[in-house]
Amino acid sequence: MLRFAVLASGSKGNALVAECGGTRLLLDCGLAPRDTEQRLARLGLAPGDLAGILVTHEHGDHGGCAYEFAAHHRLPLWLTHGTRQALAGEGKALAGVVTRLIEGRAAFALDGIEVQPYTVPHDAREPVQFVLSDGARRLGVLTDVGTPTAHVEAMLSRCDALVLECNHDPDLLRAGAYPRWLKERIAGPFGHLSNGQSERLLAALDRSRLAHVIAAHLSQQNNRPELARASLARALGCKESWVGVATQDEGLGWRELR
Ligand SMILES: [Zn+2]
Ligand SMILES: [Zn+2]
Repeated sequence: MLRFAVLASGSKGNALVAECGGTRLLLDCGLAPRDTEQRLARLGLAPGDLAGILVTHEHGDHGGCAYEFAAHHRLPLWLTHGTRQALAGEGKALAGVVTRLIEGRAAFALDGIEVQPYTVPHDAREPVQFVLSDGARRLGVLTDVGTPTAHVEAMLSRCDALVLECNHDPDLLRAGAYPRWLKERIAGPFGHLSNGQSERLLAALDRSRLAHVIAAHLSQQNNRPELARASLARALGCKESWVGVATQDEGLGWRELR
């Protein structure tokens, strides 16, 4: 059995925990260490319960506190060469932390959890996203991607659960207070997925095994949960209430893949 929960999701910090057998991994570590500890406790976990941390990319809301948390709790980090270099360039790569380099397309196993990284277009040095599996069930996670690609579609097809970025509503983004350069970055090909882009991506996937869909990385300024839910529900032809939302403050409670 594979299960997962979200500690937090959004531009102020992201972290997800996946568990299979006795193995637990943290996927991204963008919250302050004390906040991460408190949110793990909310899920019945302590940092010592983790086998390590997977990092998607160096942006502060994902990799910002990864080294600090790893150093404090003696956890290894898995990250690409580019992500490690970028964090080192920002002075965040602390000596003494065990880092294991991953390749954008090479799967590896950590006890009972199969980890499949996959490459995405996003404005970071060498970003990846992940599909996690216990060998039978697959959890696909996608945040921070500017444009869905054929490779992304192939990786997220036939998943049992999806955590899918719904960053913004284009009208709210356009009318909002962000400076023009930031609006263009967010909506651009290396920025973030809008609700409509996520809806079209979801509609294009093989959804034959899909039992959980969670909207994630919603902008608190440029989106609303009900808009993200409505978009993904349209792609699925389901009730809006069936679509989950992982939020910045609450995250998402445990979901089990059976
Ligand atoms: Zn992000
Ligand atoms: Zn990012």
